[in-house]
Amino acid sequence: MEFWNPYTETLPREKLEKIEFSYFQNLLSYAKANSQLYKDKLKGINIDDIKVFEDIKKIPFTYKEELRKWQEDVDPFPYGGLLGIDIANVSSFRQTSGTTGKPVYVPESYESWQWRVESWCHILYMAGFRPRHRVFLPFGYNVYVAFWEAHYAAEKLGCEVVPGGALDTKGRVNKIIELKANAMCGTPTYLLNIAQEAASMGIDPKSLGIERALGAGEPLPEATRKRIEETYNCKMYDHIGSTETCGFAGMCEAQQGLHIVEPFFLVELLDKDTLSKEVSEGELGVIVITPLGRRSFPVIRFNTNDVAIKGPSTCECGRTSLKLMEIVGRVDDISKIRGVLFSPKTVEQLIRSEFPEIVEYELVVTREDIMDKITLRIEADPKLNKDEAGEVAKRLGERHKIKTNLSCKVVVEPQGTLPRYDLKAKRFKDMRGKH
Ligand SMILES: [Zn+2]
Repeated sequence: MEFWNPYTETLPREKLEKIEFSYFQNLLSYAKANSQLYKDKLKGINIDDIKVFEDIKKIPFTYKEELRKWQEDVDPFPYGGLLGIDIANVSSFRQTSGTTGKPVYVPESYESWQWRVESWCHILYMAGFRPRHRVFLPFGYNVYVAFWEAHYAAEKLGCEVVPGGALDTKGRVNKIIELKANAMCGTPTYLLNIAQEAASMGIDPKSLGIERALGAGEPLPEATRKRIEETYNCKMYDHIGSTETCGFAGMCEAQQGLHIVEPFFLVELLDKDTLSKEVSEGELGVIVITPLGRRSFPVIRFNTNDVAIKGPSTCECGRTSLKLMEIVGRVDDISKIRGVLFSPKTVEQLIRSEFPEIVEYELVVTREDIMDKITLRIEADPKLNKDEAGEVAKRLGERHKIKTNLSCKVVVEPQGTLPRYDLKAKRFKDMRGKH
């Protein structure tokens, strides 16, 4: 097996934890001295009291809400109390998408950006990206971090990078063909959209010659991953990250779970209800993460609100980093409907694995009187006639009931009714309000 960093990627766990803990201590001192947010947050904490790994739990979590608050009317503009360096040393700007509220503005220095890129090199290399790859990046090159890290990391790895911004989907298909690109990074559903567009142009996606792809930006259920592999006849890999934390875990060629990029990050997986106990292997935990090498924007014990299943720290690839076996979704998305625990990812998994004739869908939960109702809006393959689409809807309703123990109403929508996403898909809408 090959590694991007043969030393750190195969270190025994005790050594990794030792390194991470010393990085954590350094970051604490640095943040307390240089970031207004942490000057305030760590006021009552004597950093010398953080002596052993377990002491990390004495440091409070950081929430996205706080990041927003510390940028409102706090100097220097626009980074406010989050900035950890002299503003003159900021070399690039990114921001969060703001889908859940006001965006957070993220400052990067040249060094911190290089740190992000190096972390991403691990992710791409473990997914089999090599210098022989001509990597097409079909995303809007703009203020969102999206695949910017992938762009720079692929270059650093020695790949040839083709920026695929400012093109529509058809234009992107043509560019892939023109340049014989053989690798891609994209949101999983957008990769499927590209394949669909190619098919509508009379081109078999398999003939595009895409050898491997890396997904980001939305959960990638196993069924979607396999579907992309079959559609392109390629290898498809997953990764997880965010603007605030950087890309922090990726899938190796064994394709079983995501390796945390250690010792770049300290990751805790904590019991969902108490947020205090580290869960055991096989259990669900909330991901709490500390990027250990970023000074421009220090973030300590960031509560991502994402839930994952804790995996082992052994793998057939030989890496010793901890694995996340499955990203189950947002804490908020895993809710109770009519008293039954429900995850929208189950529905995505069902549709992607058993209903190739459904091209887009949206899942809506509403409350009528006191009853929760699930509606699944779908768009069927345009090749199907009305009766055939109705048949698909009926079968989906039955399978949904079996998979989730909940009945739902399936509505077939006309072509083009439902939104398409190339970033941050939002197919689950809980309209029940606070409850
Ligand atoms: Zn592995």
